Amino acid sequence: MPELPEVETVKEILKKQIIGDTITDITINYSKIIKETDPATFRQNLIGQTFRDILRRGKYLVFVLDDYILLSHLRMEGKYFIKSPNDEISKHEHIIFRLGPNKTLRYHDTRKFGTMYLFHTTSFDIVNNMLPLKELGVEPLGSDFTLAYLKEKLTKSHRSIKTSLLDQSVISGLGNIYVNEILFLSKIHPLENSDELTDEDITNIIDNTKRVLNHAIELGGTTIHSFQSALEVSGRFQNELRIHMQKICPVCHGEVSKIYVGQRGTYYCKVCQVKR
Ligand SMILES: [Zn+2]
Repeated sequence: MPELPEVETVKEILKKQIIGDTITDITINYSKIIKETDPATFRQNLIGQTFRDILRRGKYLVFVLDDYILLSHLRMEGKYFIKSPNDEISKHEHIIFRLGPNKTLRYHDTRKFGTMYLFHTTSFDIVNNMLPLKELGVEPLGSDFTLAYLKEKLTKSHRSIKTSLLDQSVISGLGNIYVNEILFLSKIHPLENSDELTDEDITNIIDNTKRVLNHAIELGGTTIHSFQSALEVSGRFQNELRIHMQKICPVCHGEVSKIYVGQRGTYYCKVCQVKR
């Protein structure tokens, strides 16, 4: 599942490929991806619009056009591809944006869980204060992600810290892989109660979150060049994982433990991340 660094990477690659391109036609092969706007209106409103900018909020791509903002959430398997109009259409390409005579932008999603929302404004602030974005917590790489903020959220919750960090209304953009890594680097057991963490623990979580995400974004950006027009993110950060999917702890060389927290595979070291 794409998390913040993968979405950030897709955003940066797409910016290089489609900014300035005008949508000349749209083919909708599976309309349930589009939420709250009927497919005919979606098509009609977007044809003739030019991509002006692409932003990211949490795991959402935010496409800014002349008169509209289009949000896209990739969920489990969503991907974007740039292809020639002559390339064969795969059965997983659900929305195809024609960009002039020689280019198409194709939304590809084998699981069909992705979503798109269209807003008749170009103001990100307005869209950010509407559903679905207004329910999101702070950006972990932004200046609002502070000890005061996270402490306030965690002290109100007796849930496990793993569950709290995955909650998009607490922090937007984190997913299973990066939360496993962040807790390992912070030496905190994934089942530790959120309201029992010290200020030092919370500060460690914030610092390690920024460190892991920035490092992953850096490597995602490196990887993606080898894919060229196929915008699939597989990520060179895979080689940098310290605990997620690992067998041996890189710090104490003990065996890595695996449990399930909310059905998510949770890797930790029972020596380095002791439950208090
Ligand atoms: Zn260890």
